[in-house]
Amino acid sequence: MVPFLYEALPARVRFGAGMLAVLPEELDRASKSRALVLSTTQQRDQAEQIATLLGARAVGIFDNAMMHTPVGVTEAAVALARELGADCTVAVGGGSTTGLGKAIALRTDLMQFVVATTYAGSEMTPILGQTEGGRKTTQRGAAILPEVVIYDVDLTLGLPKGMSATSGMNAIAHAVEALYAKDRNPIISLMAEDGILALGRALPVIMDDPRNGDARADALYGAFLCGTCLGAVGMALHHKLCHVIGGSFDLPHAETHTIILPHATAYNAPAEPEAMARIAAALGAESAARGLYDLAGRLGAPLALRDLGMKEQDIDRAVREATENPYWNPRPIEPEPIRALIARAWAGDVPA
Ligand code: NAD
Repeated sequence: MVPFLYEALPARVRFGAGMLAVLPEELDRASKSRALVLSTTQQRDQAEQIATLLGARAVGIFDNAMMHTPVGVTEAAVALARELGADCTVAVGGGSTTGLGKAIALRTDLMQFVVATTYAGSEMTPILGQTEGGRKTTQRGAAILPEVVIYDVDLTLGLPKGMSATSGMNAIAHAVEALYAKDRNPIISLMAEDGILALGRALPVIMDDPRNGDARADALYGAFLCGTCLGAVGMALHHKLCHVIGGSFDLPHAETHTIILPHATAYNAPAEPEAMARIAAALGAESAARGLYDLAGRLGAPLALRDLGMKEQDIDRAVREATENPYWNPRPIEPEPIRALIARAWAGDVPA
């Protein structure tokens, strides 16, 4: 066996249908009694439901969480938390709301409770991306990692089908890259494999029957595993491409991941046959890249960057930005094959 380092991040996770009910007891256990509830405007109802559940333990709601954690929004939330004397935050939502909770914790050290309602996985990571003046920067740190995570399957029953598909593919991307990460280890690889298996099995069922509780539980469990992978080991080409292309051309996060993943996987396939075999087996497909592409197609997810609004002439800039800062990847980053990859993803072609 190859020598490895395995370092577990602290996590307290409560998982199950109806699990939101334990939130008050989780606050009591941590001796917290003044929660600021966070959400997007779209999830204001769920934030109110949580404030009602917490009763006197909730001191207010901030419902302006936004994609990519704009610093101005964080500053407004921090000011409100201070004004209300909050001693913790409860984020209800996906990566955007979780990101706001992390950004507040970074500045105030307030304890974070997260009620995760998408499959993006941010709740399991010590990673925060923030935007200021149109620039996104990412950092890692112990203060960023949420302390308590609640996965309540019931809160995901209404996650729209399109979002379920792309958010699920976003989760799978974390597991795919964990299997060939530079610092991969056998424990995280088990989670990655099982995460892909659970999501690959559940997402097609959810497309046909979005309120299927068993499939929703399977998908949310897979998302938890995949998020753990993202938090534990380093990512490579796929995440870098999504960061560059999503950031430069202002493309939606989960959709961008969905489209790029099969192509980034195909790029790395020659360098990582064992990881590819594990991905393909988890998907029940002949090849990893084709299995991912076919899964996205089966889910009715977007397959072409041009359908997200990226222009063909943007491909040059994307190639430049993806290749200018050297970073680790199992296969060397070379401009011509990267151009071919991005061009295929732009057009929605099958992965090469
Ligand atoms: P999101 O949090 O932006 O949510 C998208 C929309 O769906 C929002 O309007 C939200 O309110 C709504 N929504 C969420 N759950 C719902 C539900 N159950 N029912 C109905 N509507 C619901 O989307 P996301 O993909 O979860 O997160 C994307 C953001 O998270 C990006 O900014 C990305 O960079 C970040 N992210 C960070 C990490 C990390 O580890 N730091 C990991 C993954 C994603």
